[in-house]
Parts: sequence; C-alpha cells; structure tokens
Amino acid sequence: MDKINLYKELKDFNISFYKDWDVSKYSNFKIGGKINALIEVNKISQIIDVVKILNKYKKKYFVIGNLTNVLVKDGKLDYFFIRLKGDFEKILYNSKRVVFAGAGVSNEKLLNYMAKNELGGLTFLAGIPGTIGGAIYMNAGAYGKYIGDFINNILIIDKNGEFKILPNKNIFSYRSSIFQKNKSIVLGSEIRVYKTKKEKILSEIRNILAIRHAKHPWNAACAGSFFKNTKKFPAGMLIEDCGLKGFAVGDAAISKMHANFIINKGKAKFNDVMRLSKIVRDKVYKKFKIKLKEEVIIIK
Ligand SMILES: Cc1cc2nc3c(=O)[nH]c(=O)nc-3n(C[C@H](O)[C@H](O)[C@H](O)COP(=O)(O)OP(=O)(O)OC[C@H]3O[C@@H](n4cnc5c(N)ncnc54)[C@H](O)[C@@H]3O)c2cc1C
Repeated sequence: MDKINLYKELKDFNISFYKDWDVSKYSNFKIGGKINALIEVNKISQIIDVVKILNKYKKKYFVIGNLTNVLVKDGKLDYFFIRLKGDFEKILYNSKRVVFAGAGVSNEKLLNYMAKNELGGLTFLAGIPGTIGGAIYMNAGAYGKYIGDFINNILIIDKNGEFKILPNKNIFSYRSSIFQKNKSIVLGSEIRVYKTKKEKILSEIRNILAIRHAKHPWNAACAGSFFKNTKKFPAGMLIEDCGLKGFAVGDAAISKMHANFIINKGKAKFNDVMRLSKIVRDKVYKKFKIKLKEEVIIIK
C-alpha cells in the first residue's frame, strides 16, 4: 500500500520512474537484482521532492551515475535508485577558468567539451567510465591525480532534502569523500581548468587511453579496481604475488591482465564475487599481513 501511495505521489509531481528496474542489465559488472524502481529527476526541485517523498515513506535509496563502481546484490531489492538527468547533464563555462558540470555529466562528455573549448586539467579522467557525481563521491583519479584536487564549490542536497553549496574543505580523501558517510547527493560542481591547446588535450587523452587499454581489462564486465591500493603497495601487485591471476569462483575471476580487477566472465552472481573477494583478502593477509579494503561500493 505504501508503495502504491509513493508511486502516486511521484506521478502527481510529474516524476518519471521505472518499476522493477533490473540492475544487471545496466551495471558495468552485469550483476544485480531488481530494485523497486529507478526514478529519474531533471531539476533540483524534483530531486528535493523525491528525497522528501522517499523519506516520508522511509524508503532506502541511492543516487547512481553510470554504475561503473558498484556491486549490487541479486534478487528482489527493497530500495530505489535515483538517476540525475536533464539539468544535471549540463556543462557551463564562465570566464574565471572554472567549468560547472552537473553530476550527471559523464567524464567522457566533459572531456569532449573541454577539448572543444581548449580547457586543460582533467585528462587523467580519460577512460574512467563514470559521471562527475560518481567521480566526486569516489574521489576518482588516476596517475597521481584526483578529481578532489580540482574542485571548488559543490552543490548538494543533504539527506533531509536541503539544498547547500559546500566549499571544498575536508571533503576528499583517497578514493573517498564525506558524501560516503553523510549520504548527501551531489548535484554538480565547479571544477578548476586552464586554457591550453586542443591538440595537446587530445594527444594526452589518446596516450592515456592507449596505456589503459594495454594494462586494464577495460571492456570486461567489472567495476574497475576492486580493492584500494595500500599506502605502500598497489593492491594488484599483492594479489598477483599470491598467484591469484585467473583464479575464479564461478564466473567471477581475477583478471589475467590486471590482478586488481574482478571480472564477470558471463553469469557471475553477487555471492561469487563476494566469495572471491574474501579469498583474495584472506590470502593477501596470510602472506603479507595487509588488510585489503574494497574500493568498489557494495550495495546489499
Ligand atoms: C574499466 C574501468 C576502469 C576504471 N578506472 C578507474 C580509475 O582509473 N580511477 C578511478 O578512480 N575509478 C576507476 N573506475 C571506477 C569508476 O569508473 C569510478 O569510480 C567512477 O567515478 C564511478 O562513477 P559512476 O558514475 O559510474 O558511479 P556509480 O558506479 O554509479 O556510483 C558509485 C557510487 O557513487 C554514488 N554516487 C554516484 N553519483 C552520485 C551523486 N550524484 N551523488 C551522490 N552519490 C553518488 C553511488 O551511490 C555509488 O555509491 C573504473 C571503472 C571501470 C569499469
């Protein structure tokens, strides 16, 4: 009954939603069950309404980007996903060398925009297949650079549906942000950029993609690096040293190309990946006395 009323309220607010949304069809891991519904919002007033409605019915929800860093449980899942569309997919550029990107903008779209407008600084995002919202939530990065180092103000709504503009202070840490703790929704952000030549940007992107394609199973069903690197050693090196490259549980396998990628070879289930990741953690701990922590966000 609750859900019927909830859907009625969403309809009254003209908000689109897709019931029984099958996560496995859309997640990069190709794993995940059916959630109550995917809700799509196009503007700030709509997301505020949605959060208030979901809170009113005490329903659990997650805002999603491109689902490239999540492992979602199988089966029937009693929660909602919210996807940021419309206004959240816009990029604005002002004269102060700052670009504003909505949280729903993909890294690829932002990089194309920056190349076209001869703006440099973010080429390290090339080949990271997520959105700006996902990048901020995860403090995504590569080659020693992190998105958090380029951010000015961030637009959010907190878990009560209140809109806020946060300065970039004490927000980011290695592959994490305060949003992982306080459950705020990132709506968009100002990103510092600088003027440069289009050809330089395109050549940097080409070089980065060539390196990535040579080292990572970039087109496999996966969620990127499964574990966080430790302060001293890359997780992939520790896993490889345990002889685990190619090791599999069901269709979940340690990539032969890069040991920190768990890939879905076809029909892997959530539990296969969880079992495999436990074996990896145990073996690495036994051999090196180092506790690996998941980088991938596990949604149960
Ligand atoms: C082949 C491959 C290579 C990768 N390489 C890298 C890499 O080099 N470096 C790196 O850092 N990552 C890498 N990743 C991981 C992933 O692409 C990044 O973490 C990316 O930033 C996630 O963005 P997303 O939009 O897909 O987020 P999702 O996977 O959709 O979500 C990730 C988390 O962020 C939350 N979230 C998403 N959007 C919002 C929002 N607007 N507000 C609040 N919370 C939000 C979600 O609830 C979820 O908890 C790689 C992944 C793949 C598959």
